[in-house]
Amino acid sequence: MKIKVDLVSDTSTRPSADMRRFMAEAEVGDEQLGEDPSVNRLCRMAAEMMGQDEAIYLPSGLMANQISFAVQTKQGDEIIMDQTAHPIHYESAALAVISGASIRPLAGDGGIFTAEQVENAIRDNDYHSPQTKVISIEQTTNLGGGRIWPLARIKEIAEVAVEHKLKMHMDGARMLNAAVAAEVNPAEYGQYFDSIWFDLSKGLGAPVGSVLAGSTEFIEKARFWKQRLGGAMRQAGIIAAGGIFALEHNVSRLEEDHKHAKMLAETIADQKGLEIDPTTVETNIVLFSVQDNKADLFADELLKKGIRVSRMEGKLRAVTHLDLSLEDIRYAVKHIEETAKEVLS
Ligand SMILES: *Cc1c(COP(=O)(O)O)cnc(C)c1O
Repeated sequence: MKIKVDLVSDTSTRPSADMRRFMAEAEVGDEQLGEDPSVNRLCRMAAEMMGQDEAIYLPSGLMANQISFAVQTKQGDEIIMDQTAHPIHYESAALAVISGASIRPLAGDGGIFTAEQVENAIRDNDYHSPQTKVISIEQTTNLGGGRIWPLARIKEIAEVAVEHKLKMHMDGARMLNAAVAAEVNPAEYGQYFDSIWFDLSKGLGAPVGSVLAGSTEFIEKARFWKQRLGGAMRQAGIIAAGGIFALEHNVSRLEEDHKHAKMLAETIADQKGLEIDPTTVETNIVLFSVQDNKADLFADELLKKGIRVSRMEGKLRAVTHLDLSLEDIRYAVKHIEETAKEVLS
């Protein structure tokens, strides 16, 4: 069956005709030499948005996380993050391989931990223990179900970081979803972080890349790691232009994806055999459970109707995005209801 409604990820968007036209006409140069005008423009836009001195354009979000940690730690240092965090589960153990830093996982609520949990996790200055260097926050939480870190919580944790001389990192793959949903200017988040990035290739609908921002001093070190890891490119303005277009056209519309996710969540909550608390669906991720170990069966049945969801840690995940219309979501709602009746009751 052809996939009709792809809810696997917000990475499944295709560049629109207008975005492609804009990309085709982009001015380009040698990015590795810092001479690509489109890349430079994108980086200025992103740095300004996040209230940072500078930004660099990278091929992926994973590289943004790994470069940040490589700059901020040395072998054997420790990074505090939630136990559901992306670097623990989906980065092929890059942290162990590249920085050699270790991880202190915290048991947060939907990926969100407290300042008190951080205080308790910070190591004493003792030669038996690793040395805590970084606190990493995932905005929005991915495996946590698209939850938003409130600005007040971030501020509390940033105060702990300052007190203990720790760096603050935001894995902001979907930070703009949070900014739009919570009506927070990204620079308000930015003020609390030493390194902060977002993906252009998720809800924003661009085909490639992320932008990582920080102080001039941080970015200077990050450039070494970008080159070292093979992240420096040539006429990358072609793809960076997709990012510029996305920032100019696709940010405020994220609200629509959030409404669609809410519709899915409310439908799912109403079905016998499916479980979700729709009040926890704050952005574009809908993470739900299926009773009696029937998650695989339910996903397979949906796929027969052209609806694709992903499997995550025993649950199912549906993610809304730019390429899904209200009509697509209505189609998914109808078939989730039908399928639940067919296979779960
Ligand atoms: C997708 C994602 C990443 C990695 O980004 P890529 O662009 O896919 O490399 C990192 N962190 C989180 C929370 C993500 O959702």
